Amino acid sequence: MTTPKLAAFAAPPGGAGLPWGGPAGGLITLALSKGRILDDCLPLLKAAGIELEEDPETSRKLIFATTRPDVRVVLVRASDVPTYVQYGGADLGVAGKDVLLEHSGGGLYQPLDLKVARCRMSVATLADFDYASAVKQGSRIRVATKYTGVARQHFADKGVHVDLIKLYGSMELAPLTGLADAIVDLVSSGNTLRANGLIEVERIVEISSRLIVNQAALKLRRDEIRPLIEALERAVESAREGAAQR
Ligand code: ATP
Ligand code: MG
Repeated sequence: MTTPKLAAFAAPPGGAGLPWGGPAGGLITLALSKGRILDDCLPLLKAAGIELEEDPETSRKLIFATTRPDVRVVLVRASDVPTYVQYGGADLGVAGKDVLLEHSGGGLYQPLDLKVARCRMSVATLADFDYASAVKQGSRIRVATKYTGVARQHFADKGVHVDLIKLYGSMELAPLTGLADAIVDLVSSGNTLRANGLIEVERIVEISSRLIVNQAALKLRRDEIRPLIEALERAVESAREGAAQR
């Protein structure tokens, strides 16, 4: 027997009666992260017929109802999106390829390149550091990065010896303070690097945002999730055509 108090937390199927749908419920949950990914995904979602019922920039909410009664959006840290989707906290999510390359868990299906939040992962150094010679001479290079997995693989493939220093942000500061010789970070315009006297010396991989889907959810709720993926696919296609015409 559930006590009345506990029963209040047991959401009915579909989360009826709760403003955000209740835990899991019958809703399809999409995980996004604030900032670039949200900014770039809102137009795609809109084209797919999904709009948030409230402005996430001004709201402090983490769960948002949408104009589609069967779909809700949750906002999590960019690097937490794959974890939410892997364990079924969300059925779908949008994550940068940078985040996915570092994420070690399985259970994720990646059906679609959304082609937004595009940039590249690169090696950068101070302008006066001779990276090419350091590599040629087989010197040990100190590399600061948030992306230790990708960096380790990249330098191992090149046969370069590196000491990796894990950071969680402001990588550009590392060479300026003598913490590291080089960084591995995301670059788009290169303005942040330039503003800090750094130059891009090597491109590692092109980055964009990907739709990710929980594999079990896709199997169990294929009839609901498949049309959503297809609608987003069409939205990506028309955004591409729109950009080509401009
Ligand atoms: P947090 O601030 O929570 O630690 P974050 O700094 O990774 O996360 P953002 O800076 O918004 O959050 O980056 C989110 C995603 O956007 C990245 O994982 C990457 O895929 C993409 N991204 C990051 N920097 C750029 C950039 N300069 N240009 C284009 N896309 C980018
Ligand atoms: Mg950030």
